[in-house]
Amino acid sequence: MDETITFSGWEAIEDNTLSTNEELKSGHTYTMYHGTYLKLANTIISKGFQPSKDGLLGAGVYVSRNIDKAKCYPLKIDVKDKVVFKLKVRAGKVKKIDSDNHPMQKTWHQNGYDCAWVPPRSNLTAIKSGREEDCVWDPKRITVVGVACCVDDGKRKELRKLIHRMNGTDDVCSRCNQSKRGGRRHDTQLCWNCPEMICPFQSKHECKP
Ligand SMILES: [Zn+2]
Ligand SMILES: [Zn+2]
Repeated sequence: MDETITFSGWEAIEDNTLSTNEELKSGHTYTMYHGTYLKLANTIISKGFQPSKDGLLGAGVYVSRNIDKAKCYPLKIDVKDKVVFKLKVRAGKVKKIDSDNHPMQKTWHQNGYDCAWVPPRSNLTAIKSGREEDCVWDPKRITVVGVACCVDDGKRKELRKLIHRMNGTDDVCSRCNQSKRGGRRHDTQLCWNCPEMICPFQSKHECKP
């Protein structure tokens, strides 16, 4: 107990980044990400996603457990015009698509599946990065639960408020931005190294100089 603490600040690793390489299983709920135009953010949060009419995996909403993949979208636009949403996705019945010209590449939904999953390091020539890609048929399976990336601090705060209002989780800790519901106490306390209040559930805290 008498060890001297020589670091300040911390960063937690979310378990979903560790499970990204795991198989996408039917019936499970996953944290996933979706990058889109910042100007569409409010509409998506309040009205849900508008599925793409076509794409590598046909019609549906394109998402990924890999945040770096989500960050690339939309392609060729400035980062200040982008937002990456953190999502909860109820996968439903999952079809693995792991090769070019897969017979169900665009018709998985017509064959009774809710979600198409291209695993990491697949042999699909269209996915050069080798990152996971998922396509969800029904936007109702997707809930926006947070803003993973948005360079404008003010806008990010506004979007988070809207997300909490839509999800009924607006009783939110001002430090960690997470819901206080569910019985967890957010006992904020003064940082040991700077004059900021911190919450034990904050994933990251950088000390004020
Ligand atoms: Zn908190
Ligand atoms: Zn501090």
